[in-house]
Amino acid sequence: MIEQNILEITAELSKASNIVIVPHKGPDGDAMGSTLALMHFLKDKGHNAKVIAPNEYPTFLKWLPGNDEVMIYEENKPAANAVIDDAEIIFTLDFNDLSRCGDMQHSLETSKAIFIMIDHHQEPAEYADYTYSDTQMSSTCEMVYHFIDKLRAKNKITPEIASCLYTGIMTDTGSFRFSSTSATTHRVIADLIDKGAKNSDIHQDVFDTNSESRLQLLGVALNNLNVNRQYRTAYITMSQEELDANNFRKGDTEGFVNYGLSLDGIIFAAIFIENKQEGIIKISFRSKGDFSVNTFARNHFHGGGHNNAAGGRSDENMNDTIVKFNSLLPDYKEQLQA
Ligand code: 5GP
Ligand code: MN
Repeated sequence: MIEQNILEITAELSKASNIVIVPHKGPDGDAMGSTLALMHFLKDKGHNAKVIAPNEYPTFLKWLPGNDEVMIYEENKPAANAVIDDAEIIFTLDFNDLSRCGDMQHSLETSKAIFIMIDHHQEPAEYADYTYSDTQMSSTCEMVYHFIDKLRAKNKITPEIASCLYTGIMTDTGSFRFSSTSATTHRVIADLIDKGAKNSDIHQDVFDTNSESRLQLLGVALNNLNVNRQYRTAYITMSQEELDANNFRKGDTEGFVNYGLSLDGIIFAAIFIENKQEGIIKISFRSKGDFSVNTFARNHFHGGGHNNAAGGRSDENMNDTIVKFNSLLPDYKEQLQA
């Protein structure tokens, strides 16, 4: 984002009162951490800032400072639409296309507000007046830190803001282990700890608050693990029945896909999760090295994301989806075979 844009955004912010901040549907730690951090920052500056999430997010994020103020679009559309109507500026965080906002898409498309995108996904769409897109970044939370820095306001980062940003960087980097984690990421993290993020507490709040039924569900997932050594691929299936039998709650399957990738010699992992209510199979893809799951998800499963972490969906049933998935692997044999 160039200096001229920062000057213009500073001028727009100085005029605006009502600001809406939107994460993607199925918000994760980075989406909620970045939107809530920006909300605190803008409220502290005197704006009327509101986070509107397209739908519910996992309970392991419900401790985030500002959680109680989040509006859930799917649960109260008229009230949320009224807030969107009044917005002078709308920040869209951690996604690259308005179609990632589910039912909120139409209200956003018809809004007259100034749009500012902050995001690290590939191939950003061109809906925003100001686009701060950087696919090299570990997380949108790291970008919000840099954005605040560009506004020359690093000294305004409170312990609440630091905790929110720490959370998203931590979750999107797999606790600082993915290749997107740079030396700068670690410098940002160090500064956030200096500014009041309680790092050890945050790890516990996110990772050590499992219910017994979530661990039972993990057992089912690991039992369903299917390994294809020929194409260095592993995948997990989860039927709606299996989810129901284990008291499934939003976020319970978060991270399961990584178990496939933790197998020695496996470079491509997927998890297929049935959602009977939406009539889809929601899919997460992960890879190691050069095999782009962004391209794979985009080409075959209506999705996208990053090179090594992407998502998508299938409108066919589980069986047909798996048959399709397996039939695609030979097309990528150059990249997948050792
Ligand atoms: P996850 O598998 O954890 O849900 O998502 C992995 C990455 O892919 C995230 O950056 C997420 O935003 C992105 N992603 C997940 N599902 C979709 C999808 O359906 N479409 C697109 N474009 N990106 C997705
Ligand atoms: Mn992210």
